[in-house]
Amino acid sequence: MRYAFKGKEVTKFILIISFSIFITSCGEKAPDKIADDNIEVVNNQQVQGRGEGKDNWWDNLPRAHWDNFEKVEQDQDWFEVYKITEDIYAIYEMGQFEEAICYLILGSERALLFDTGIGVGAIKKLVSNLTDLPVSVLNSHTHYDHVGGNHYFDTIYGTSTEYTANHTMGRPNNEVREFVGPGWVWKPMPNGVTVNNYYSKPFTITNFINDGDKIDLGDRVLEVFLVPGHTPDALVVMDRAGRLMFTGDTFYPASLYAHMGDANFDDYVKSAERLATMSKDVDILLPAHNEPWVSSDYLQAMYDGFLAIQKPGTQYNIADGDREYRFDGFTIMVSDPPPW
Ligand SMILES: [Zn+2]
Repeated sequence: MRYAFKGKEVTKFILIISFSIFITSCGEKAPDKIADDNIEVVNNQQVQGRGEGKDNWWDNLPRAHWDNFEKVEQDQDWFEVYKITEDIYAIYEMGQFEEAICYLILGSERALLFDTGIGVGAIKKLVSNLTDLPVSVLNSHTHYDHVGGNHYFDTIYGTSTEYTANHTMGRPNNEVREFVGPGWVWKPMPNGVTVNNYYSKPFTITNFINDGDKIDLGDRVLEVFLVPGHTPDALVVMDRAGRLMFTGDTFYPASLYAHMGDANFDDYVKSAERLATMSKDVDILLPAHNEPWVSSDYLQAMYDGFLAIQKPGTQYNIADGDREYRFDGFTIMVSDPPPW
């Protein structure tokens, strides 16, 4: 099953677009007010530890990359929905700093929702308007911006790690309130959500998932691979027949977080090496942030990047006290001093 858009010329086109967008995110011009008059920040001190591009993240919006896809009309302003292929929808939260992307992947009998966003929008209602198929959830990992809508769903796949188990208990307001505060959000929040009442609701893992497990959606089999590093429970999903890989936060075209407290650098390098060997099996990556369709060439580039940064003399910037190493279309963030 190969998609109409396939072929190097399109991915090259998408690569050029994403590179030019990456360049502009480094604060080359003063940010314009996007929407809400109350939120105009020149140097975004509210968002910390998220790389150089965080200061003027709204400058990138809207990202031209999404013009390649059919926008689906729906009644929730918080979300933007795009038809990526005949049987894949991207659900995009571009009103909040993370610009999280969830994917609704359709088979002939079942559907899988890969991630559920930060949890301010009614994602189950949204999904039920997109398909009549029964929907299960799998998270690329359990950071707050990927599990927020889990609580709406009855069938949730997850790893058996202690890390995942801890996050099934939800996160209270004091742990997540900043993520919907000034500098993080520019769109009005729906459903009466405010910085004072926002929290991440508990959920229950109903099916444990292990490395190499398959999820059969009916005429479509997805393979799950555990790739710890960004977090202990990071995973990717491969649609081998479609030559697609849903990469979560392990790879996306921006700052890769190998510096956070729950990241493990050595694991990330091992996972990057493993993914580089898989790049021959996929053509397109569907990441969990910013843009939904990038070249699988990034898998090798990411591994090469992780090797390059460990070499003495490799250039880096300091962003909010962390090291940021820049590559073509992405950066790698590590702590300073580095974990090697
Ligand atoms: Zn994450």
